[in-house]
Amino acid sequence: MKIHFEGAARTVTGSKHLLETENGVKILLDCGMFQGQESEKGRENHHFGFDPADVDMLILSHAHIDHSGLIPKLVKDGFNGPIYCTEPTKALCQIMLTDSAYIQMSDYKYAHKNGFSSQSSEPLYDIDDVLQTLELFKTLSYDNWHHLNDDVALLFTYIGHIIGSGCINLRIKEGKKTHRIAYTGDIGRKTHRIIKGWKPFPQAEIIITESTYGDRLHGNIGTNEEQLLKIVHETCVENKGKLIIPAFSLGRTQEIVHALDKMESAGLLPPVKVFVDSPLSTSATEIVKSFPEYYNKDIKKYMERDSQPFGFSNLHYIRDVKYSKLLNKLNEPCIIISASGMIEAGRILHHVANNIENERNTLLIVGYCEPSTLGGRLRDGAKEIKIYGRELKVKARIEILDAYSAHGDYEEMIEFLSCQEPHLIRKLFLVHGKYETQMIYKDHLSQAGFHHIEIPERGDVVEITI
Ligand SMILES: [Zn+2]
Repeated sequence: MKIHFEGAARTVTGSKHLLETENGVKILLDCGMFQGQESEKGRENHHFGFDPADVDMLILSHAHIDHSGLIPKLVKDGFNGPIYCTEPTKALCQIMLTDSAYIQMSDYKYAHKNGFSSQSSEPLYDIDDVLQTLELFKTLSYDNWHHLNDDVALLFTYIGHIIGSGCINLRIKEGKKTHRIAYTGDIGRKTHRIIKGWKPFPQAEIIITESTYGDRLHGNIGTNEEQLLKIVHETCVENKGKLIIPAFSLGRTQEIVHALDKMESAGLLPPVKVFVDSPLSTSATEIVKSFPEYYNKDIKKYMERDSQPFGFSNLHYIRDVKYSKLLNKLNEPCIIISASGMIEAGRILHHVANNIENERNTLLIVGYCEPSTLGGRLRDGAKEIKIYGRELKVKARIEILDAYSAHGDYEEMIEFLSCQEPHLIRKLFLVHGKYETQMIYKDHLSQAGFHHIEIPERGDVVEITI
C-alpha cells in the first residue's frame, strides 16, 4: 500500500490523502480546497497530483470546505465513484458546496468588472458540477463497520469537531494482509458546546492525524465565555462601537450564537442587536437544528429551559443582501457575526472594510486563520490592509479568543490518541498543521510515548509494508 499526501501537508488547508493498494484500488480521504487566494495555494487548487478518473471512492471526514471544497472539481475532472460520509455531512455539503460555487462565480464577476488581477482566475466549478457531485453521496451511520466492497470496511467514530464529523477507520485487505488505518480528520475540543464529544477509536497501525494546534493550549471554555462577555461590554456599552466577529458558517457561528444565547437567558447580555449576516451561516444553523440526535447532554439539558438554543429576541439572521447593506448605515452599537472565518470572501469583507478604521469597534478573531489570509494577517498584527482595492488603516481593536476553535489543543489531541497502544502504531503521520507547529507537536507526542512519527510534504508518497 502507498499513501500519497496531496494536501494539508505542512499546511492547514487542502486536505487530500490518497491510499493506493497494490491491486491498484485508490481511496481518497477528503478533497479539500486550498484557501488563501492571494497566495500560491490559490493556484494549487488547479492540480490534484493524481488523475481523478482513477479514484475508486472518496471518504469524507466532515463538511468544512478545506476538507470538502474541491469535490465538485474532482467530479468535473472525471471522478465518478461513491462519496461516503455521515448524514449531517451530506446535508451540510449540499449548502457548503453550492455556496462555494456561488462565491467563486460572484468573486470572478466582481474581480473581472473591477480589474483585480489577483482574483481573476476562473471558478473551479459551477452549480451544475455541484449538483452532479451531490448525486454521488452515500450516507453511513456512526459506530458500525460498513463493508464497502470485499476488501474495504469503514467505520465512522465520533470526533467532536462539527456536526457530522467523524474519525475514519479503515480495514483494507491486500492479499492475505489487512491494513488497519485511522484518519482523524479534524479533532474537536474535549468538551464541545453543542455536539457529542470524541470517542475512542479501534487500534490502528497507520494513523494520519491533524496537528493544527500542536504547539498551543486553549484555556477552558468558561473563562473564554467571560472574556467574550467582557469584550461585548467594552465594545458595545463602554465604547458604543460595533463588534465584528468573522466566523466559519459551520460550527463556530453556532457556538458563538449559543454562547450569546446563554448570556441572554442569564440576563448578562447588554440589549444590543446581534446579527448573523450570512445566508450560509443561517442555513448551516437550520441544519444543525435539524439533527438534535447528535447534541450532547449539556445542550439537551439547556433546551429543557430554552427550546431555542440558537435564537433570542435581539438576534437576527440575515439572508437578503439588501438587509446586509443596511448594516453599514446602522448607527448604533451591535454585534455582527459573518463569514468567511478567515476573512477571505463573503460579506465579512465588507463589514471589516467598513468598520476597521474606527477605533470604537472591535474585530474579534475566534479561531485559527491560515497566515496568508486576511484574517491571518490581522491576527498577526497587520496595521494596514487592502480590501477590494481599498487601502485601510487598522484602528479597531483586534482581539483573539482561541477557545472558540473547533480544534483541540495539543493536550486534547494527545488525550484523544491515548486510546491507542503506541507500540502497535507503525506510522503516525502528522498532517493539517504548519511545519514549525508540527515539529513541536512531534516532541509532545514523543514524550507521550508515540514513535515512528512522520511529517509528509505535499507530493510525498510513502510505501507501507506489513
Ligand atoms: Zn474542520
